[in-house]
Amino acid sequence: MQVLVLGAGQLARMMSLAGAPLDIKVIAYDVGSEEIIHPLTQEKIGKGLANAIEKADVISAEFEHIPHPILDECQESGKLLPSPEAIKCGGDRRMEKALLDKAKVRSAKYHVIQTKEDFTQALEQIGIPMVLKSALGGYDGKGQWRLKSHDQIESAWQEMKICIESTNDQAIVAEEFVPFNREVSLVGARAKDGTIKVYPLAENIHTEGVLSISTAIADNELQQQAETMFTAVANQLDYIGVLALEFFDLDGTLLVNEIAPRVHNSGHWTQQGAETCQFENHLRAVCGMPLGSTKLVRETSMINILGEDSLPSEVFELSGCHVHWYGKEKRAGRKMGHINVCGDYTGELQRKLANLSNLLDSSAFPAVQQWRDKASN
Ligand code: ATP
Ligand code: MG
Repeated sequence: MQVLVLGAGQLARMMSLAGAPLDIKVIAYDVGSEEIIHPLTQEKIGKGLANAIEKADVISAEFEHIPHPILDECQESGKLLPSPEAIKCGGDRRMEKALLDKAKVRSAKYHVIQTKEDFTQALEQIGIPMVLKSALGGYDGKGQWRLKSHDQIESAWQEMKICIESTNDQAIVAEEFVPFNREVSLVGARAKDGTIKVYPLAENIHTEGVLSISTAIADNELQQQAETMFTAVANQLDYIGVLALEFFDLDGTLLVNEIAPRVHNSGHWTQQGAETCQFENHLRAVCGMPLGSTKLVRETSMINILGEDSLPSEVFELSGCHVHWYGKEKRAGRKMGHINVCGDYTGELQRKLANLSNLLDSSAFPAVQQWRDKASN
């Protein structure tokens, strides 16, 4: 089997690694340069979408912001999974909200803004504080504004107006501010026969809009809620592949924040913590194979490495620490790799995180400061 992944970043790379034992070969297509890339070596192995499609048995995607003509061309080949509709929903907050409404899944109250009048209506219906998000192109908290007081209304509108006018078909989705206790996400897979298997929920800590640490948690009540919502969304889309749902936990009630129609950063812990990792399960699903077990095999946290391309050698000496580099050029704040840290349910994971916090620099690991604070309390 040869799987073409639209996007040539770390997610395609990790799919390639996970596919090798099953003899599933992954090639990547860089939608910007139009090059066909080997996802591990970054070697150029061809050019052009038509050539890439021709080489593939199955086509999938590692990100949702893919120009629609590319999705349409892939769809015409009959090889694209999940569906273009699912991928488009992940890349357009208007479609995403409509999908959640249709699937009868709770999410923050919203209003779509294109004009100043829409903004006035949003202010009436949602009120302040309000979160404003660009409908297209947002990721890692980019393209967002927080409206906290009435005196910010005019300046917020000026910024939103520039955003709306800068891109064809752009709009703003205004959302009520959710005073959540924490953020969790559910990653799961749906197979061609409709079978669904989900991983345990992960608790996610973001720093300045970017995920810094993700830990698998056991909470039966929340897991049940999340699973019901996941099933509703996945079935609504007739989804095939790995899908992620991000939630706000509001005193034990979950609200969907957003969906990601792909393998997800908050599922990287599954490489060491679950029986079958999310990358393998995505390939299994799109290749028409049975899904692998999503059972937790050891408690695990995933720590993102941001803007750093080396680690102290002591990190490699710690048992239960697994480093995954993405082979990317170093840039401030860029996701360069991650560390999966495993424990044995005796407090070992927390001890290891505390140990790591002494070795890691807090600019590359923003979550480190929080463990230091925790450890000193
Ligand atoms: P990513 O793609 O990295 O997940 P994103 O740019 O798509 O991020 P969101 O997930 O929608 O953006 O928002 C980023 C973060 O902003 C959320 O993880 C959450 O911490 C905060 N946030 C988003 N929407 C709201 C809201 N309605 N109320 C309160 N906080 C919010
Ligand atoms: Mg998000």
